[in-house]
Amino acid sequence: MSVELKLTSTEIRALFLDYFASKGHLKVPSSSLIPRNDPTVLLTTAGMQQMIPYFLGREVPPALLLTSAQKCFRTTDIDKVGNERTLTFFEMLGNFSVGQYFKREAIGYAWEFLTQVVKLPADRLYPTVHPEDDEAPVYWSEIAGFADEAIVRLEDNWWGPPGASGPCGPDSEIYYDRGEEHGCGRTDCKPGCECERYLEIWNLVFMQYYQDLEGKRTPLPKKNIDTGMGLERLTMVVQGKESVFDTDIFRSIIDRFAALANTRYGVNRQHDTSLRVIADHGRALVFLAADGVLPSNEGRGYIFRRLLRRAVRHGKLLGLDKPFLAEAADTVINLMKDHYVELSLQRDRITEILSLEEKKFNQTLNAGLNLLNTLIEDLKRQGHHAIPGEEAFKLYDTHGFPLELTQEVAAEHGLSVDVSGFEESMQRQQERSRSTNVFVQGQDEQALADLLKRVGPSEFTGYQGISGSSKVVGLIVDGVEVESISTPQRALLVLDVTPFYAESGGQIGDQGDITGSGGRLPAGWRCSAGQRA
Ligand code: ATP
Ligand code: MG
Repeated sequence: MSVELKLTSTEIRALFLDYFASKGHLKVPSSSLIPRNDPTVLLTTAGMQQMIPYFLGREVPPALLLTSAQKCFRTTDIDKVGNERTLTFFEMLGNFSVGQYFKREAIGYAWEFLTQVVKLPADRLYPTVHPEDDEAPVYWSEIAGFADEAIVRLEDNWWGPPGASGPCGPDSEIYYDRGEEHGCGRTDCKPGCECERYLEIWNLVFMQYYQDLEGKRTPLPKKNIDTGMGLERLTMVVQGKESVFDTDIFRSIIDRFAALANTRYGVNRQHDTSLRVIADHGRALVFLAADGVLPSNEGRGYIFRRLLRRAVRHGKLLGLDKPFLAEAADTVINLMKDHYVELSLQRDRITEILSLEEKKFNQTLNAGLNLLNTLIEDLKRQGHHAIPGEEAFKLYDTHGFPLELTQEVAAEHGLSVDVSGFEESMQRQQERSRSTNVFVQGQDEQALADLLKRVGPSEFTGYQGISGSSKVVGLIVDGVEVESISTPQRALLVLDVTPFYAESGGQIGDQGDITGSGGRLPAGWRCSAGQRA
């Protein structure tokens, strides 16, 4: 059956929020991609994350029924991007009940929204439940008329607890049948099958137990509902498209880049993958930057860097030889700015961050790729099947190649990478840099701390440009603050503003030259950024 209704993704989001508002839910804005007060996760992965304190009774919610469209990012899905359904950044539509309604209402709302509001054909929808949940199947049959045997039981339909202990419970996932032509053809193919036929669109989580540290479960006095549905996947099925990338959320970005690369989407599989990676990663980078994530070699910043470098490399695979991320950012911002006003407000800042990081990476990418390709040729000729960890580390350390990028290029040539060897090299380097920190040696530490207390930390301007004028506000030699230095002498210079990006964790900071009215630091002297206070 073809889907007649051609709603836009913006309309679908609004329909969802309005539907739940009409059922007494308070619309709450998306929280940041950087989770508040939760050091255990790097980035927000679900709509319920901002609700956890309410579910646990630690904070008073603004209302007991809530609904949101939440910005989410899943690092675990980065390598899957390129298929029809998986994104790194996506929006999760959700409705939440803090100790109010439970399974019957959650199932009733979901069914009504899907079949009456966005008008998906009921015969394409399949509920799944947890094998131990005897209640959910009863409601699915009462409300939506499913025969018990048509309701698929899946062991995976269980959520939580989020940590070692906490709330947990069964869930009920709703799948959309995309048709036999997408299937694996096996007789036991059903929702939950790995193939592309059944697409999970909505997960209804029934938080009904508390699990203690020993794994013992007791019923929660107040049961909660948490649901999550990917806006992009819902849009894909409502618009009757073949993938999330064919929806109005992505198609114009894809077409723009296909035109830039002199190709067309849907003609060449490899090109399509690259276009999808660029569209997904470009969008994710815009939202990460808007929420304050900046490129670095650690944590969230590393995820940013890894995505950006992956996007740039896929640009190269498409033959895009000029920088393109600023344009990608601009297209994304134009598409998303109506719902996410923060994007327009930060347009310049976001495009600058992306352009600068792209420029930096481009400087080393070609050299690194040449080295990697030569290395791969040599290894293959010698009959090896893996890139030694030390070599992968060298590429990471001197050419900024994320391990995953080396792995991806290696895999294209049928090689693997010795990851434990890579980690050993990384550890060795970190130990080395701890013992011989060229920037702040033991004796300098106190002097630097005292100086910074007085003059304040340096202002970092590296995202606006890679040069600038600054004042030297402090000089330290051998642990003592001095007024001047004469060559040859090792010294710490503290600047009021600096474009030098400083990195920790044993990584190399930016390098460059310092010139002044009295001349330039003698040839051969390179200035490197240490750890910024
Ligand atoms: P899947 O296994 O299909 O990737 P999941 O079980 O990890 O999904 P949930 O954690 O249940 O997903 O998230 C709820 C909903 O969010 C899913 O039903 C789906 O619509 C959407 N979703 C989850 N991960 C992604 C993703 N990487 N890209 C796009 N949508 C997603
Ligand atoms: Mg799920």
